[in-house]
Amino acid sequence: MEQTFIMIKPDGVQRGLVGDLISRFEKRGFFLKGLKLITVERSFAEKHYEDLSAKPFFAGLVEYIISGPVVAMVWEGKNIVATGRKMIGATNPSNAEPGTIRADFAIEVGRNVIHGSDAVESARKEIALWFPEGLSNWRSNLHSWIYE
Ligand code: UDP
Ligand code: MG
Repeated sequence: MEQTFIMIKPDGVQRGLVGDLISRFEKRGFFLKGLKLITVERSFAEKHYEDLSAKPFFAGLVEYIISGPVVAMVWEGKNIVATGRKMIGATNPSNAEPGTIRADFAIEVGRNVIHGSDAVESARKEIALWFPEGLSNWRSNLHSWIYE
C-alpha cells in the first residue's frame, strides 16, 4: 500500500490546527503509520527542501520551517500521494480550490500550514529522512470497511 509524508508546518501547530488536519486524513480512510512533534535544525530543513535551494524563497522557507515544532507523519492508503496533494490543495492558498486544506485554513504561500510529498519517489525519500527509526506496521480492523 502506498505511503506519503505529511508535515503540519509550524503555523499549523501554533494555530491549533493539528487535530483538524489529522482528522481529515483519518476520516478519508487513510491509516496513520508514523507521527511525531519535532523542531528541526536548519541543516535538516535545508535537506528536506534541497530541491528548492536555488529558489528566491528558499531562505525564508527554511526560517519558516525551523520557527517552531512541526508534526511529521506518515499516512498510508490507495493513491495517497496524489490524493493527499489534492486534499492539501495548491501551493498558493489563493489558488487553492474550496474544500482543500490550504483554501480552508491559509492565506499566504509562505504560511500554507501543511506539506505533502509530490510523488511516490519523493515520499520514499522524505519518509526515510524523517523516520530513520522506522514506522509502525499495524493494520486497522476497518480495512474491509474502506476497501472493497
Ligand atoms: N513557497 C514559498 N513561496 C513560493 C513557493 C513556495 O514560500 O513562491 C513555500 C511554500 O511554503 C511551499 C514550499 O515553499 O509549500 C515548498 O514549495 P513547493 O513548490 O514544493 O510547494 P508544495 O509542494 O508545498 O505545494
Ligand atoms: Mg513540494
